Amino acid sequence: MDCPYCSYHDSKVIDSRDVNDGIRRRRQCLSCGSRFTTYERLQPTSLFVIKKDERREEFNRDKLLTGIRKACEKRPLPIGIVEKLVDEIEAELYRLGKAEILTKVIGDMVMEKLKSLDYIAYIRFASVYRDFADITALKQEVDTLVSVQTVTSRPVSQLPLIPSEQTEAQAKSHRRRQK
Ligand SMILES: [Zn+2]
Repeated sequence: MDCPYCSYHDSKVIDSRDVNDGIRRRRQCLSCGSRFTTYERLQPTSLFVIKKDERREEFNRDKLLTGIRKACEKRPLPIGIVEKLVDEIEAELYRLGKAEILTKVIGDMVMEKLKSLDYIAYIRFASVYRDFADITALKQEVDTLVSVQTVTSRPVSQLPLIPSEQTEAQAKSHRRRQK
């Protein structure tokens, strides 16, 4: 623990006592002499995920990353955003301080983040993670998305004003004239 005042890397413990689920230590910086307090809390070394069928599996960051990457495939997202998202989720999970966690909790966290990041990715992820019971809710989400897209995509269909054959012919005659 670096000193919060001068960032020096070493300090001595001047007092320590048990508090609730951890240890509170009074420390003094060996460089500037400032006093500060640290709390040590027991952190489970591994986090287990309880699946729908109640089987337990060790939390696997790569697995989560693969799942989210798949949902974000070919979406116009900034490089590294998926890794950042997984970092955030992992940190949140460990912050909960639990040894076991329901798959659903993780799935909900991912969906919450994807919803504000990319709607298509969100729908893809939801279709894999959500229970069959939620299929009506999922359909509603898709319907909303489709209606939004129909409205916004209309001007695009008016864009090609010149038929492609015509432009091709013009290009050829232009090349011929240049020779
Ligand atoms: Zn210091």
